[in-house]
Amino acid sequence: MTTISVLGLGAMGSALAKAFLKNGYATTVWNRTEAKADALVAQGASKASTIEQAIEASDTLVLCVVTNDVVHAILDEAKDAIQGKTIVNLTNGTPNQARDLAVRATKHHAEYLDGGIMAVPPMIGTEAGYVLYSGPQPVFERLEKTLRALGGTKYVGADAGLAALYDLALLTGMYGQTIGQVQALALIRSAGVEAEGFMRDLLDPWMKAMAAFSTEFAQQVDAGNHTENVVSPLGMQAAAFHNLIDAAGEQGVSADLFKPLQSLLNEAVDQGHDNADLSVLVDLLRR
Ligand code: NDP
Repeated sequence: MTTISVLGLGAMGSALAKAFLKNGYATTVWNRTEAKADALVAQGASKASTIEQAIEASDTLVLCVVTNDVVHAILDEAKDAIQGKTIVNLTNGTPNQARDLAVRATKHHAEYLDGGIMAVPPMIGTEAGYVLYSGPQPVFERLEKTLRALGGTKYVGADAGLAALYDLALLTGMYGQTIGQVQALALIRSAGVEAEGFMRDLLDPWMKAMAAFSTEFAQQVDAGNHTENVVSPLGMQAAAFHNLIDAAGEQGVSADLFKPLQSLLNEAVDQGHDNADLSVLVDLLRR
């Protein structure tokens, strides 16, 4: 059976270690602030006092620390101890950071999988959350049963950077939604309207109704065809968009979050995309 060392016992690393323990895996834990290991030791984990001990204890090393700079610092300290080990790095980072770590691991004769956690700590070990993985497919397939202790698994490709890219694209969608929500609530609160009822009865259903068009939107992007069956042409939307900016000003709300989108819409109009769907903006951004 796979043996696992979890390095990094913050909110997420602790949840990961707990899930491995719950599934019967021999789990060693290490954290810079040692006291965070105590609750896991009480649940059956072995505590490593040094990074080297943690690495030597197991064949699979799961890293989950604040940034990939810290991952590099951990590997600096372990020197040659990672030889022959499998590293599963679940620290949030960029595609190139993941690729650099994969090169570093290969140089030290270690295997490397990168992962992007699409969950918050209470979702770990449940089917509500999943982890994206990228790196060598045979390594993923060998470990998949073990990794399922954490929840769902989605393998996205051999390029080590892909899990981070998918992760950040998903977070981008989420933060885009956050931008819309905070701006909408700032507008509505500026007139003293209660946010809860507005969200429940109007904004949430509206967002869901608009999401019904998202598959078609993505198909247009794949096809590079943005001008068929367009019901809300970009030119019309650009002409009305300044009302969002002006209304915010009238209500004493900053419109800074939305001004970049206005600039992009105007640029699309300048380039003659008046009759296109908003999906054409994807092509404009990829300049
Ligand atoms: P926490 O802030 O709870 O924990 C951070 C961890 O990094 C701790 O173990 C901390 O050690 C360690 N650390 C920080 N600096 C150093 C250092 N210089 N040397 C050694 N260890 C260090 O963060 P989370 O556990 O929540 O997040 C961990 C990773 O998981 C991040 O990359 C995050 O983006 C990602 N993630 C988190 C999610 C969440 O909802 N929490 C969701 C999805 C991904 P110490 O205890 O000693 O400070």
